[in-house]
Amino acid sequence: MELPNYDLHCHSTASDGSLTPVELVERAIGNGIEVLALTDHDTLSGVAKLQNEKCLGLKLISGTELTAQWNRRVIHVVGLGVDFQSEALITYLDNLAKLRQERSVRIAEQLIKMGLPDLLEDAKGIAGEGIIGRPHFAKAMIAQGVVSTEQQAFKQYLGTGKKGDIKIEWPSLERVIEVISQAGGIAVLAHPTKYKMTFTKLRAVIKSFVEAGGKAIEVSYPGMTPDHHYHLLRIANENNLMLSAGSDFHTPSQGWTDLGKFPPLKSKDNHVLAALL
Ligand code: AMP
Ligand code: MN
Ligand code: MN
Ligand code: MN
Repeated sequence: MELPNYDLHCHSTASDGSLTPVELVERAIGNGIEVLALTDHDTLSGVAKLQNEKCLGLKLISGTELTAQWNRRVIHVVGLGVDFQSEALITYLDNLAKLRQERSVRIAEQLIKMGLPDLLEDAKGIAGEGIIGRPHFAKAMIAQGVVSTEQQAFKQYLGTGKKGDIKIEWPSLERVIEVISQAGGIAVLAHPTKYKMTFTKLRAVIKSFVEAGGKAIEVSYPGMTPDHHYHLLRIANENNLMLSAGSDFHTPSQGWTDLGKFPPLKSKDNHVLAALL
């Protein structure tokens, strides 16, 4: 089987992306993508919306990127091919939405303590019907002229170790993999080199991931070095993990990422697409 043009990781307005699910699909088609997984953070609402769209023009894979906790660190796990009507997953995501609402109140309180205006209503407005997260606070800061870029907002207020990075009890890595598996999905470790971990630490994460039933790992995404890529291919091979890849696209205004744009895999062996199509 020839691999189709694909992208297995991207975001819409259902979480912190700037395109609606329909706009996202249109852009993907424009970029020549044949198989697209929509993987919004901790929600399936974008995927659910697209079910009602007839003649999408590409094959849509139901996905979500779940926030997980491993040894007090935050790890992202993409679930691919999940049943978006799974009761277990829907209940899980409803709880997550509440957790994120409570967290947003605490983020706003912390930012006020740091001398910023109350950004809660602005951030909620920007998130709209989508799941709320730190990027919506970053956008609210830009709108109020507090910072000029989202990167700056994270660096000063919202990123790891900053006061606006409110620590909450995200579900454990094991729980996240369990709920993806229960919903018939494949658990994929997202962007492994983006956690600012040593490869030794990363190997410990991957060991837990595999023991808990994780099946695949992203080995190609924008911003990674060829060295990282080969390292990840080796780790995938050692752990019998299938390979996945995606752009993690959020918005057209980030010129360095676009749908379908990531270093291509040289081989189609062990590709997660074979298990999804
Ligand atoms: P949250 O889900 O609320 O924890 O927010 C995490 C999201 O924030 C990630 O999915 C990224 O889209 C975004 N993000 C994380 N770190 C940065 C950063 N340093 N600069 C810009 N965006 C970031
Ligand atoms: Mn994001
Ligand atoms: Mn992520
Ligand atoms: Mn993502």
